Amino acid sequence: MEIRIFQKGFNFSQDGPGNRLVYHLQGCNMHCPWCSNPEGLAMHGGTSYSTEELMDEILRSSLMFFDGGGITLTGGEVTMQFDAAGELLKAAHSCAIHTCIETNGTHPRLPELFPYIDHLIMDVKHYDPEKHRETTGVSCENTFRNIEKAAKAGKTLALRIPLIGGFNASTEDARHFSDLFQRMHLKGYATLELLCYHEYGKSKYESLNLPYLMDDTAFISDETLHAFRDILADSGMTLVST
Ligand code: SF4
Repeated sequence: MEIRIFQKGFNFSQDGPGNRLVYHLQGCNMHCPWCSNPEGLAMHGGTSYSTEELMDEILRSSLMFFDGGGITLTGGEVTMQFDAAGELLKAAHSCAIHTCIETNGTHPRLPELFPYIDHLIMDVKHYDPEKHRETTGVSCENTFRNIEKAAKAGKTLALRIPLIGGFNASTEDARHFSDLFQRMHLKGYATLELLCYHEYGKSKYESLNLPYLMDDTAFISDETLHAFRDILADSGMTLVST
Protein backbone atom coordinates (compact mmCIF):
# COMPACT_ATOMS: atom_id res chain seq x y z
CA MET A 1 0.00 0.00 0.00
CA GLU A 2 1.23 3.56 -0.73
CA ILE A 3 1.73 6.19 1.98
CA ARG A 4 2.17 9.87 1.11
CA ILE A 5 4.64 11.72 3.30
CA PHE A 6 5.62 15.38 3.26
CA GLN A 7 8.46 15.25 5.80
CA LYS A 8 10.47 12.64 7.67
CA GLY A 9 13.43 12.58 10.02
CA PHE A 10 14.69 11.78 13.51
CA ASN A 11 13.51 13.62 16.57
CA PHE A 12 14.42 13.05 20.22
CA SER A 13 11.63 12.72 22.82
CA GLN A 14 9.20 15.33 21.47
CA ASP A 15 7.08 12.95 19.40
CA GLY A 16 6.97 10.05 21.84
CA PRO A 17 9.69 8.51 24.03
CA GLY A 18 13.36 8.24 23.07
CA ASN A 19 14.90 8.76 19.66
CA ARG A 20 12.31 8.33 16.93
CA LEU A 21 11.99 8.20 13.19
CA VAL A 22 9.06 10.55 12.56
CA TYR A 23 6.90 10.37 9.45
CA HIS A 24 4.61 13.28 8.62
CA LEU A 25 1.68 11.96 6.59
CA GLN A 26 0.03 14.18 3.99
CA GLY A 27 -3.52 15.47 4.49
CA CYS A 28 -5.63 16.82 7.35
CA ASN A 29 -9.38 17.14 7.90
CA MET A 30 -8.95 20.30 10.03
CA HIS A 31 -7.70 23.77 9.24
CA CYS A 32 -6.39 25.14 12.53
CA PRO A 33 -5.22 28.69 11.72
CA TRP A 34 -2.09 28.24 13.89
CA CYS A 35 -1.01 25.02 12.14
CA SER A 36 2.77 24.97 11.73
CA ASN A 37 2.67 22.50 8.81
CA PRO A 38 0.40 24.11 6.21
CA GLU A 39 2.25 22.23 3.46
CA GLY A 40 0.84 18.99 4.89
CA LEU A 41 -2.85 19.88 4.94
CA ALA A 42 -3.95 19.25 1.34
CA MET A 43 -5.27 15.73 0.78
CA HIS A 44 -3.13 15.34 -2.34
CA GLY A 45 0.63 15.78 -2.70
CA GLY A 46 3.60 14.56 -0.69
CA THR A 47 5.98 11.81 -1.75
CA SER A 48 4.66 8.26 -2.13
CA TYR A 49 6.39 5.30 -0.49
CA SER A 50 5.23 1.72 -0.27
CA THR A 51 4.84 0.29 3.23
CA GLU A 52 7.56 -2.23 2.26
CA GLU A 53 9.98 0.62 1.44
CA LEU A 54 9.22 2.30 4.75
CA MET A 55 9.57 -0.94 6.71
CA ASP A 56 12.92 -1.49 5.06
CA GLU A 57 13.99 2.00 6.17
CA ILE A 58 12.62 1.44 9.68
CA LEU A 59 14.43 -1.86 10.16
CA ARG A 60 17.69 -0.39 8.83
CA SER A 61 17.28 2.50 11.33
CA SER A 62 16.41 0.41 14.34
CA LEU A 63 19.84 0.79 16.01
CA MET A 64 19.00 4.50 16.29
CA PHE A 65 15.87 3.87 18.36
CA PHE A 66 17.66 4.35 21.67
CA ASP A 67 16.10 5.36 25.01
CA GLY A 68 12.86 3.56 24.22
CA GLY A 69 12.51 5.09 20.76
CA GLY A 70 10.86 3.79 17.62
CA ILE A 71 8.64 5.29 14.95
CA THR A 72 6.02 8.04 15.14
CA LEU A 73 3.35 8.71 12.54
CA THR A 74 2.12 12.29 12.62
CA GLY A 75 0.87 14.80 10.09
CA GLY A 76 -1.12 16.41 8.81
CA GLU A 77 -3.50 13.89 10.26
CA VAL A 78 -2.35 10.27 10.20
CA THR A 79 -5.85 8.81 9.95
CA MET A 80 -6.55 10.54 6.63
CA GLN A 81 -4.51 7.62 5.21
CA PHE A 82 -6.14 5.17 7.57
CA ASP A 83 -5.57 1.84 5.82
CA ALA A 84 -1.99 2.53 4.80
CA ALA A 85 -1.08 3.89 8.24
CA GLY A 86 -2.70 0.83 9.82
CA GLU A 87 -0.70 -1.49 7.59
CA LEU A 88 2.58 0.22 8.52
CA LEU A 89 1.78 0.23 12.25
CA LYS A 90 0.89 -3.47 12.12
CA ALA A 91 4.09 -4.34 10.25
CA ALA A 92 6.27 -2.33 12.64
CA HIS A 93 4.51 -3.72 15.70
CA SER A 94 5.00 -7.29 14.48
CA CYS A 95 8.76 -6.57 14.26
CA ALA A 96 8.77 -5.34 17.90
CA ILE A 97 9.36 -1.70 16.85
CA HIS A 98 7.90 0.78 19.37
CA THR A 99 5.04 2.64 17.62
CA CYS A 100 3.47 6.01 18.33
CA ILE A 101 0.92 8.13 16.52
CA GLU A 102 0.07 11.77 17.02
CA THR A 103 -3.53 12.44 16.00
CA ASN A 104 -6.34 14.96 16.31
CA GLY A 105 -8.44 11.97 17.34
CA THR A 106 -11.44 12.56 15.11
CA HIS A 107 -11.41 9.39 13.02
CA PRO A 108 -14.29 7.13 14.14
CA ARG A 109 -12.24 3.97 13.40
CA LEU A 110 -9.19 5.09 15.41
CA PRO A 111 -9.74 2.40 18.11
CA GLU A 112 -9.13 -0.29 15.44
CA LEU A 113 -5.48 0.84 15.43
CA PHE A 114 -5.04 0.63 19.23
CA PRO A 115 -3.64 -2.93 19.22
CA TYR A 116 -0.71 -1.75 17.06
CA ILE A 117 0.02 1.53 18.90
CA ASP A 118 2.31 1.60 21.95
CA HIS A 119 2.04 5.32 22.67
CA LEU A 120 -0.86 7.54 21.63
CA ILE A 121 -0.56 11.34 21.49
CA MET A 122 -3.85 13.18 21.05
CA ASP A 123 -4.55 16.88 20.74
CA VAL A 124 -7.44 18.39 22.66
CA LYS A 125 -7.88 21.85 21.23
CA HIS A 126 -11.15 22.83 22.91
CA TYR A 127 -13.71 21.53 25.39
CA ASP A 128 -16.66 22.99 23.43
CA PRO A 129 -17.44 21.04 20.20
CA GLU A 130 -19.11 24.05 18.57
CA LYS A 131 -16.20 26.43 19.24
CA HIS A 132 -13.86 23.70 18.03
CA ARG A 133 -15.83 23.37 14.81
CA GLU A 134 -15.97 27.15 14.24
CA THR A 135 -12.18 27.42 14.39
CA THR A 136 -10.90 24.13 12.98
CA GLY A 137 -13.81 23.12 10.73
CA VAL A 138 -14.47 19.87 12.64
CA SER A 139 -16.20 19.03 15.92
CA CYS A 140 -14.18 17.41 18.71
CA GLU A 141 -16.89 14.98 19.86
CA ASN A 142 -15.20 11.98 18.23
CA THR A 143 -11.91 13.02 19.83
CA PHE A 144 -13.56 12.90 23.26
CA ARG A 145 -15.02 9.44 22.51
CA ASN A 146 -11.67 8.12 21.29
CA ILE A 147 -9.81 9.49 24.32
CA GLU A 148 -12.22 7.68 26.62
CA LYS A 149 -11.86 4.46 24.61
CA ALA A 150 -8.05 4.74 24.67
CA ALA A 151 -8.04 5.26 28.43
CA LYS A 152 -10.36 2.26 28.91
CA ALA A 153 -8.12 0.16 26.62
CA GLY A 154 -5.16 1.05 28.89
CA LYS A 155 -3.17 2.76 26.15
CA THR A 156 -0.26 4.98 27.10
CA LEU A 157 -2.09 8.21 26.43
CA ALA A 158 -0.45 11.63 26.15
CA LEU A 159 -2.87 14.54 25.72
CA ARG A 160 -1.76 17.93 24.47
CA ILE A 161 -3.53 21.29 24.53
CA PRO A 162 -2.15 23.91 22.15
CA LEU A 163 -2.76 27.08 24.17
CA ILE A 164 -3.99 29.85 21.90
CA GLY A 165 -4.81 33.28 23.35
CA GLY A 166 -8.42 34.31 22.66
CA PHE A 167 -9.40 30.71 21.85
CA ASN A 168 -8.77 28.36 24.79
CA ALA A 169 -6.18 29.79 27.19
CA SER A 170 -8.03 31.77 29.90
CA THR A 171 -8.43 30.56 33.48
CA GLU A 172 -12.12 30.02 32.73
CA ASP A 173 -11.09 27.80 29.81
CA ALA A 174 -8.75 25.90 32.15
CA ARG A 175 -11.68 25.17 34.49
CA HIS A 176 -13.75 23.85 31.57
CA PHE A 177 -10.88 21.59 30.46
CA SER A 178 -10.49 20.42 34.04
CA ASP A 179 -14.23 19.56 34.22
CA LEU A 180 -13.99 17.73 30.89
CA PHE A 181 -11.05 15.57 32.01
CA GLN A 182 -12.77 14.79 35.30
CA ARG A 183 -15.97 13.74 33.48
CA MET A 184 -13.81 11.44 31.35
CA HIS A 185 -12.16 9.93 34.47
CA LEU A 186 -8.68 10.47 33.01
CA LYS A 187 -6.84 10.91 36.30
CA GLY A 188 -4.07 8.32 36.33
CA TYR A 189 -4.76 7.25 32.73
CA ALA A 190 -3.30 10.13 30.73
CA THR A 191 -0.57 12.75 30.91
CA LEU A 192 -1.21 16.31 29.82
CA GLU A 193 1.15 18.72 28.12
CA LEU A 194 0.44 22.40 27.51
CA LEU A 195 1.95 23.78 24.32
CA CYS A 196 2.14 27.55 24.00
CA TYR A 197 1.32 29.21 20.70
CA HIS A 198 4.32 29.92 18.50
CA GLU A 199 4.59 31.20 14.97
CA TYR A 200 7.21 28.76 13.62
CA GLY A 201 5.01 28.01 10.62
CA LYS A 202 4.44 31.65 9.65
CA SER A 203 7.10 31.86 6.95
CA LYS A 204 5.71 28.68 5.34
CA TYR A 205 2.37 30.43 4.79
CA GLU A 206 4.18 33.26 3.01
CA SER A 207 6.09 30.87 0.78
CA LEU A 208 2.88 28.95 -0.01
CA ASN A 209 1.05 32.20 -0.75
CA LEU A 210 -1.49 31.46 1.98
CA PRO A 211 -2.85 34.07 4.39
CA TYR A 212 -1.56 33.76 7.97
CA LEU A 213 -4.59 34.56 10.10
CA MET A 214 -2.96 34.61 13.55
CA ASP A 215 -1.81 37.76 15.35
CA ASP A 216 0.02 38.65 18.57
CA THR A 217 -3.08 38.13 20.73
CA ALA A 218 -2.49 34.38 20.35
CA PHE A 219 0.72 34.50 22.43
CA ILE A 220 0.46 33.35 26.05
CA SER A 221 2.17 35.13 28.94
CA ASP A 222 4.09 33.10 31.56
CA GLU A 223 1.54 34.24 34.12
CA THR A 224 -1.38 32.88 32.06
CA LEU A 225 0.46 29.62 31.48
CA HIS A 226 1.16 29.15 35.19
CA ALA A 227 -2.44 29.93 36.15
CA PHE A 228 -3.72 27.47 33.54
CA ARG A 229 -1.25 24.84 34.66
CA ASP A 230 -2.18 25.21 38.33
CA ILE A 231 -5.88 24.68 37.63
CA LEU A 232 -5.24 21.51 35.62
CA ALA A 233 -2.74 20.20 38.19
CA ASP A 234 -5.28 20.78 40.99
CA SER A 235 -7.74 18.59 39.09
CA GLY A 236 -5.31 15.66 39.42
CA MET A 237 -4.01 15.54 35.84
CA THR A 238 -0.34 14.59 35.50
CA LEU A 239 1.31 17.49 33.72
CA VAL A 240 4.44 16.86 31.68
CA SER A 241 6.68 18.81 29.34
CA THR A 242 8.75 17.29 26.56
S1 SF4 B 1 -5.09 19.10 13.29
FE1 SF4 B 1 -2.85 19.42 13.39
S2 SF4 B 1 -2.14 19.15 11.28
FE2 SF4 B 1 -4.37 19.44 11.18
S3 SF4 B 1 -4.63 21.65 10.84
FE3 SF4 B 1 -4.73 21.30 13.06
S4 SF4 B 1 -2.64 21.62 13.80
FE4 SF4 B 1 -2.50 21.32 11.55
